[in-house]
Amino acid sequence: MSRSGDVRSYVFAPPPQAAVPVAGGEGLFPVRRIYCVGRNFADHAIEMGHDPAREPPFFFQKNADCLVVSGGDFRYPSASEDVHHEVELVVALKSGGTDISADDALAHVYGYGVGLDMTRRDLQGEAKKAGRPWEIGKAFDGSAPCSAIVPAENAGDLSKGRIRLTVNGETRQDGDLSQMTWKVPEIIAVLSGLFELKAGDLIFTGTPAGVGAVQRGDVLVGSIEGLGEVTTRVV
Ligand code: MN
Repeated sequence: MSRSGDVRSYVFAPPPQAAVPVAGGEGLFPVRRIYCVGRNFADHAIEMGHDPAREPPFFFQKNADCLVVSGGDFRYPSASEDVHHEVELVVALKSGGTDISADDALAHVYGYGVGLDMTRRDLQGEAKKAGRPWEIGKAFDGSAPCSAIVPAENAGDLSKGRIRLTVNGETRQDGDLSQMTWKVPEIIAVLSGLFELKAGDLIFTGTPAGVGAVQRGDVLVGSIEGLGEVTTRVV
């Protein structure tokens, strides 16, 4: 980053700004960071072998350049033979701060989307067993397909609504946003106590039950009732 008064130029072109389209317009939402919430639906916690008790939410990150804009291909990643889909509500922030109260949290939301938290489940499992970080399981290249962002004023009430994922037209995940253990305002409140949130941050808010493996050639469609859908083909 250039310091104030520093007139030097970059020694090579800086990487492009990660962004996702805004639904219904020409605009792009520039992405700064991607936060993800772990185990936020009880039925998914149970299928992963965990206690569904309402423990404090926990977080991990993907990188902004892990994004795949909806309609683009999902390239089956290296080093894994068990890559899973996780369909999730994505929250897009237009502002941020630290120690945001749950009551104030929604004032920071620009809009919402549908995302896929693609996961190398075999590598994540090894990392869990060894007490190692989750990056290689979660933050690989192309691991975050995401729909266009729908501005909050057009998105309706997302405290409930069907969230679903189909593979080649067959339903694999089918839940309701009302089942989220931690709701969007609470997630923003807790996360902002850990990191200073800023405009451009995306938060993937956790997946319902039914996660499973994908294969090359599969077409994934994740959808949230009244919001939109994310589609990608596994290549
Ligand atoms: Mn997830």
